[in-house]
Amino acid sequence: LNYQTASFLTSAPTLAQCPADLGAEVAFAGRSNAGKSSAINTLTQQKALARTSKTPGRTQLINFFTLAGGEPRRLVDLPGYGFAKVPEQVKLEWQRHLAEYLRERQSLRGLVLVMDVRHPLTEFDEMMLGWADDKAMPVHILLTKADKLRSGAAKNALQQVRSRLREWEDLVSVQLFSALKRQGLDEARDRLDGWLAS
Ligand code: GDP
Repeated sequence: LNYQTASFLTSAPTLAQCPADLGAEVAFAGRSNAGKSSAINTLTQQKALARTSKTPGRTQLINFFTLAGGEPRRLVDLPGYGFAKVPEQVKLEWQRHLAEYLRERQSLRGLVLVMDVRHPLTEFDEMMLGWADDKAMPVHILLTKADKLRSGAAKNALQQVRSRLREWEDLVSVQLFSALKRQGLDEARDRLDGWLAS
């Protein structure tokens, strides 16, 4: 699939406002600042398709991007989690929408979970993995900012995450990624193709 053709479709605050649940989509999730927007922008070779966490306003929305071509195929940018100054009530509300999206969305083929390679498997990540597991939803983990570690340390981090998730290896795959160095693009795109191309 040609991810360069991705273009902004719509933003939705709740599941009810999402576009028609037809075709296939892949969702991206991650703790704020993990590097999710950069990963989406790198995969689609577009500078500012997904807004970085510093852009106020769109953070709490589910953003949909559509790929050109016959069947409806979408990339979905789920709101980043962990923004510091948000009241507890808002966080809970947001969690509810996210859980609902993962539970109900028929066209969702897989979840890309973006983690900073230096701080993998946060509480948020565990929560997302739990929800994905409930639905037997496949997950692909991007351990991003891999350029921040020496190659040996990055490989070590990869092995550690793999071994911690061994019991879910049928559903969960993990790779190193760097938006800065454009590392791991083919592997990530292959995974998306596997979910979206059928
Ligand atoms: P988001 O909140 O998850 O969408 O994170 P962003 O994509 O906005 O990235 C957060 C910060 O990490 C920004 O300052 C990015 O420039 C930086 N960043 C993202 N990806 C990488 C990467 O692969 N390597 C490096 N060195 N920095 C990155």
